[in-house]
Amino acid sequence: MRLQTCKRHPHAAPFMATCSGCAQELYDIEQANRARAEAELSAKVRKALGLPSHGQPIREAGETAVRVCMWDQVELNTVYERVGGTVTTRTVQRTGSCSTWAATEITVAVDLPGVGRVEVFTDWYEECGGRDLPLMQAIPDAKLIAA
Ligand SMILES: [Zn+2]
Repeated sequence: MRLQTCKRHPHAAPFMATCSGCAQELYDIEQANRARAEAELSAKVRKALGLPSHGQPIREAGETAVRVCMWDQVELNTVYERVGGTVTTRTVQRTGSCSTWAATEITVAVDLPGVGRVEVFTDWYEECGGRDLPLMQAIPDAKLIAA
């Protein structure tokens, strides 16, 4: 058995099939491409929703490129009035720095031309009000937890 060394990565460990330096390089390129593609899709989705771009989706908020988090029901209603869609709710458990609580997550699902199905969501915040908003009138029977 004969080990090889890589001309491009002379300091990488000798190997049988694949140079660890080359493998790392390929991985880094793939990661960068994936991040760029996600940022591009995110910008396209946010533009179609009439929202300013903010680079990468905010993972801590549960966002992906096609799942967009809004600040509250008033903000979500603005998007709903702009693009329409189907409104649903579900009960979710949220985790903060020192507690967990139940919340009502409101989601607007909409098919955007040239993008496909996108979800825009927020939690119901009792103190923000807005039960008379078109968004809320689309879900008159929803159980709203005062988070
Ligand atoms: Zn190499």
